[in-house]
Amino acid sequence: MKQFLLIVISFFYTNIYAQVEKQNPQINKIDILHYEFDITINDTTDVIDALAKVKVLFKEDATGFYLDLTSKSGRKGMEVVFAGANKYELEYKQKDNRLYIFENKWNKGDTVEFDIKYSGIPADGLIISKNKFGKRTFFGDNWPDRAHNWLPVIDHPSDKASVDWYITVPMHYQTVANGELMEYWNTGNGKSKYHYSTKDVSLATKVMVIGVADFDIKHYGDVDCIPVYSMTFSPTPENGMDDYLNAMEVMRYYINTIGEYSYFKLANVQSKTRYGGMENAGNIFYFEESVNGKHKVESLVAHEIAHQWFGNSASEKDWHHIWLSEGFATYFTDMYLEHKYGKEKMMQRMQMERDKVIRYNSRISRPVIDTLVSNWNRLLNPNSYEKGAWFLHMLRNKIGDKNFLNTIQIYYKKYRNSNALTSDFRKVAEEISGMNLRSFFDQWLRRPGFPDLNIKWYGAKGELYLSVEQKTGQFDFELPLEIKGKNGKSYYTAVNVKCRNESFVVAVPDEMITSIDKIILDPDTKLLFRAEVSRSNTKPDGIPVIQGNNLLKKGDLLFQDLDCGTLCDAIESVTTGIGDAHFSHIGIVSTITKENKIFITEALGGKVKETELEVFLARSKDKCGRPKVVVGRAKDLEVNNNAIANLKKYIGKKYDDVFDINNDRYYCSELVYFSFEDSNREKLFSLMPMTFKDKKTGKYLKSWKEYFNKLNIDIPEGKPGINPGEISKSGKISILYKYGDPQGW
Ligand SMILES: [Zn+2]
Repeated sequence: MKQFLLIVISFFYTNIYAQVEKQNPQINKIDILHYEFDITINDTTDVIDALAKVKVLFKEDATGFYLDLTSKSGRKGMEVVFAGANKYELEYKQKDNRLYIFENKWNKGDTVEFDIKYSGIPADGLIISKNKFGKRTFFGDNWPDRAHNWLPVIDHPSDKASVDWYITVPMHYQTVANGELMEYWNTGNGKSKYHYSTKDVSLATKVMVIGVADFDIKHYGDVDCIPVYSMTFSPTPENGMDDYLNAMEVMRYYINTIGEYSYFKLANVQSKTRYGGMENAGNIFYFEESVNGKHKVESLVAHEIAHQWFGNSASEKDWHHIWLSEGFATYFTDMYLEHKYGKEKMMQRMQMERDKVIRYNSRISRPVIDTLVSNWNRLLNPNSYEKGAWFLHMLRNKIGDKNFLNTIQIYYKKYRNSNALTSDFRKVAEEISGMNLRSFFDQWLRRPGFPDLNIKWYGAKGELYLSVEQKTGQFDFELPLEIKGKNGKSYYTAVNVKCRNESFVVAVPDEMITSIDKIILDPDTKLLFRAEVSRSNTKPDGIPVIQGNNLLKKGDLLFQDLDCGTLCDAIESVTTGIGDAHFSHIGIVSTITKENKIFITEALGGKVKETELEVFLARSKDKCGRPKVVVGRAKDLEVNNNAIANLKKYIGKKYDDVFDINNDRYYCSELVYFSFEDSNREKLFSLMPMTFKDKKTGKYLKSWKEYFNKLNIDIPEGKPGINPGEISKSGKISILYKYGDPQGW
C-alpha cells in the first residue's frame, strides 16, 4: 500500500507542498489538543528514540499540515521513520525543520491522533551534558522556540496543549517532568520507565520539559496541597538542599495574592539550563551554581515561581507581548520582597530597575512591545523585565492598590491555562478601575523611552513655580513632589505634566513652609523618569498652569474657550480676549467648601446655576488635553466680596438669548457685569456697543444672522453689551493662572 501511495503522491506532491506552505501559519489551521512523548535516553549514546502521539484538531479543511521538528543535518537533528494515523502510515516529508504530513483530506472539525516515530541527537532543546561532578545529565531547555529540536510540536506559545511524558532511562537516574508522576516501573535491561501527566492542564512548548540526572530529592512540604521539592545534583553540598527553601513562602504569598496554583507540584531543580533560571511549568530549572548551601537565590526563586502564574499559566499569545511574562515575574518578585522586607526594600529595587531601564534606553530606543524583533532571545531585555515591572508599578499607583490586586486576580482567573495579549490585560484593568487606560498603556508600552526632564524651580511666598521641559518625546504623567522648608518640614504634592514645555504653579501652605529650602522629585519612587533639577532666581515667564484647587479664591473669573459649535465660534469671531485668546464663556468661583470642593456660578444651558469645577473644566480641552480655561482675579478685593454676595440673587434666572442688558435674563458676561460692583454700586466693568460683524470681513456673520432670525428679532448691533474677551483685557483684573491654552492664546 505504501509503495503504491508513494508513486501516486509523487505526481502532485509539489502542489500539495506549495499549498501547505502558503497556508502558513499553522496556528490558524490546526490546534494541538494533546501531546504524548515517549522518549528513551541512554548512557552509551546521545541519540534519543522517541514516539510522539499528537492529537490535532483541524480548524479548516486540509490536505496536509506540518509540525515544527528540526531535520537531520550532519550528526544532529531528528529523523522521522514513521508518521501515521490510526495505525496507517501517511506520506510525510521533512524539510526546513518541519515535518509535513499529507493525506487526501481532513475536514474542518476533525480530530486526528498522529503517531510519529523518530530518533536522533538533539541539536538543541534537550541539553545532554555533564554536571560539575562529571555525571551525565539531560535537561529540556526549550525557551523560546527550541522545543522542536527534539519534539514534533507547534512551537509557539499560543498553541497550548496538555502533555503526557513517558521517559525510559537507565535505572540509576531520577527524573522530573511536567505534571504528576502517575507511575514508574522497571522495563528490564537495567532501565526504568516514568510516566508523568499534566492531565487536562495545557502548556506552551516553551515550558514543556523533562530533566534526568542523579538527583538528591527533598520534599520541603506542601503549600495548599501542592508538594514543593528541591532536586539537587548528588552529592549535594552541606545545606545545599535548602538553597531553594524560600520557594515555600513565595508559593504561599503568590497563592494568597494572585490566585490558585495551576500545576501538580513545584520542583526546584538544579540543572544545566543556559538561563539563570528557567520557569518550566511545575519544575523550575536553575543554573548549576545556584546550589552552594549559601541560600543566595531568593529573588531568582521568587521570579521563576511568579512565572508559574504569568508566562506559564496566563501566557502571552505572541512573543512581542513577553512583558506579560517577564515584566510580571519581575514585579511580583518586587511585591514579594516588599511583603517580606518592607516598603524600603521595594523602593530600592524599583530605583535599581529604573536605573537599568535608563541605561538600556540610552543605547536602544525601542518600545516594550517591540514588533520589529524576530529573534525572541533579544526580547530578554530591560524593556521586557524592568520597564514592564515599572509599568505595573505605575499602574498600581494610578488605579490604587485594591484595584491593582483585583485586576491581577481577575486577569489571572480569566486567562489561566490560556493566552492573553496586552489589550486583554488592559481591558480587565479598565473594567476594574472604571478608567480609560488606553493612552496610559500605549504611552509606556508602545512608545520608546520615558520622561527625560529639565526642571527649574522658583519659590515664592505660598507658591512654588516649576518649569518642566521634556527633552525627548511628550509624556503625560504625574510628577510627585516633596517641598522641603527651611524649617525642616515637608509638604507633598504633585504636578500633572502633559506638554513638552510647561510652567506650573503649586500652592504651598505658608503656615507650614514659609521658605522653601529644596524640592525632591518623586520622593516615594512612583515614576519612571530622569531629571536634571536646578533652582532659579526668577519666576518663569508667562502664565503658569495651575495645579491643585487651593490657589483659587472666591470671585475668581474663569475664562473659557468653549467648543459648543456655531454659537461659540460666532462669539469668538466677533470678540477678542487677552493675548488674542478666543473666549466664548465666563464663570465665577462662587463656593469653596471645607473639603476644597469648588463651584462655579455661570449662565449656561438655559439659566444661571452653580456647576462643579471639574464639570466646568471638562468641557473643552487643548491639544495637550488640558481645559481651555484661564483664571483672572479682580484687583479690588471688595468687588470680589460683593460679587459673591450678589451672585446668589441671580441663581435660577433664565439665560438671555437676545443679549439684552435691560431684561431680567442673563448671559455669561452679563452676569459678571451685574455682580462685580463696589460699595457705591459702581460697576467694575464697562459696557460697550456690541458688534456681530466678523473681525476680518466687517460683515455680519451668517451664523449670527440665522441666530437672530430664529429668535425673530433684529441683530442688536451697536446695543450696549459685554463679552468674556473684553473682560479678560480689562485693567481691573490680573490674569494669574491657566488650566490650558485657549485657541489663539
Ligand atoms: Zn523570567
